[in-house]
Amino acid sequence: QVLNYEFNTAAYTGKSTVNTGLFIDGKWVDPIEGGLIEVLNPANGKLITKVGAATAKDVDLAVQAAKKAYRTVWGTRTPGQQRGRILSKLADLIEQNIEEFAALEALNAGKKFEVAKNGDITGAIATYRYYAGWADKIQGKVIETSDLALNYTRHEPFGVCGQIVPWNFPFWIMSWKVAPALATGNTVVLKPSEVTPLTALRFADLLVEAGVPAGVVNIVPGYGSEAGQAITEHNDVSKVSFTGSTLTGRKVMEAAARSNLKAVTLELGGKSPNIIFDDADLEQAVKWAAFGIFSNMGQVCAAGSRIFVQEGIYDAFMKAFTAAARGLGDSIGDPFNPKSNHGPQVSQTQLDRVMGYIEAGKTEGATVAVGGDKHGNEGYYVQPTIFTDCKPSMKIVQEEIFGPVAVVIKFKTEEEVIELANDTVYGLACAVFTENGGRATRVTNALEAGIAYINCINTWAPSLPFSAFKQSGGGTELGEYAISTYTRVKGVHVNL
Ligand code: NAD
Repeated sequence: QVLNYEFNTAAYTGKSTVNTGLFIDGKWVDPIEGGLIEVLNPANGKLITKVGAATAKDVDLAVQAAKKAYRTVWGTRTPGQQRGRILSKLADLIEQNIEEFAALEALNAGKKFEVAKNGDITGAIATYRYYAGWADKIQGKVIETSDLALNYTRHEPFGVCGQIVPWNFPFWIMSWKVAPALATGNTVVLKPSEVTPLTALRFADLLVEAGVPAGVVNIVPGYGSEAGQAITEHNDVSKVSFTGSTLTGRKVMEAAARSNLKAVTLELGGKSPNIIFDDADLEQAVKWAAFGIFSNMGQVCAAGSRIFVQEGIYDAFMKAFTAAARGLGDSIGDPFNPKSNHGPQVSQTQLDRVMGYIEAGKTEGATVAVGGDKHGNEGYYVQPTIFTDCKPSMKIVQEEIFGPVAVVIKFKTEEEVIELANDTVYGLACAVFTENGGRATRVTNALEAGIAYINCINTWAPSLPFSAFKQSGGGTELGEYAISTYTRVKGVHVNL
């Protein structure tokens, strides 16, 4: 089955052809048990297409293909230089089709077309290029113990890596996993989110065009409890890299422990503090705070969703921040309309979840300063929302909402805000706005988070590590750190 989609929008006109089967061992196949997933357009709730839903039997075929490819054509059998060339070619091919990928992402995930193009797809291209450069630079060490011994280390791939991706940055996060895995010589069984499988499926065609040998990357859309669980439980999968919720992350770790003790990298949820001190540059702080919580409609794991504002700047900050949120609320609309700046949540489930939290905030006694409601009758739109008068114990302050909902808390001192900011089970990101360099480093050092931003928020480069502390996960993606997480060290002892 193939989806032939014609985009005829203000932002983009063009065609896309996406195979809707499973991509296993270099070929398109139908799921053995024939299940289908309905893929919807979040801007209007209408069906775009149906794609194959893999089950454990399909996952097993994909894993066997990946295992064979690892042992016969990939791994050390394809030298790093060649793996790098292939990754570069993949980057070039995505770039040649950048608008088509952006349009598919906008259609399926509800992102503004320009944002998908200049953020998600451009970011993925940069990631493939970055790891193309690493592929021939994976080196061990020589360790001397005596004149007569030659001891050295090898950084070897795991073999088959299972990769499970969420729906908020489908193509971009996929690149964080596929690119370092291939650079280091692993083979891949990748499961996109059942909500947003289209760009992953379109990518499969580019794998063939770039010369990735059959079986090296297998793409199996499917439901988490079926295909996802089958990947995490499979005894021939040596490593699993998972991005998604903390709840599912626990299941992934349990499955890994129950099966073959596979290595696990988890990038999970967050409730990240964004701290604005009295001496912050107000205009910058407001601009970044709005970006931190409202970009991608709040569906960002590292979103600055708890905003702590020092008492001296509080009134001025709130005046400008609420104005920014209102302005965004006035430009809610279709992702392909160049004038709209705030699209839909990704699904009805997410819309209901976000609205549930907004209702909880109201019930718990927080004040809605801006927004607080759905928007329109069609699609899954939620108004950018700001809650004030929030108490640390409230559900909206403790739990990840994953929507355009900021909670604002006033504070007095540096010590107090460090305590408040660390009062969470999560530890993904943190941001600090201040013109005082000493305070900036002191506070970010004290905050329990894997990523810290000073006078900015949610900035990104493929060379920068993306880490997670506490219940936000474990392990690091991106940068040279991902090279370590996709390799294991062998110590070789030689007696000369
Ligand atoms: P989710 O946990 O529901 O699903 C993520 C993926 O896991 C999907 O592909 C899903 O099909 C699969 N899955 C579900 N159950 C599974 C199971 N039992 N075994 C294996 N796989 C299973 O999360 P979501 O709703 O897609 O994404 C939102 C969540 O992801 C948020 O909590 C967000 O914070 C988190 N996230 C984290 C990062 C990060 O880097 N830390 C990045 C993006 C999103």
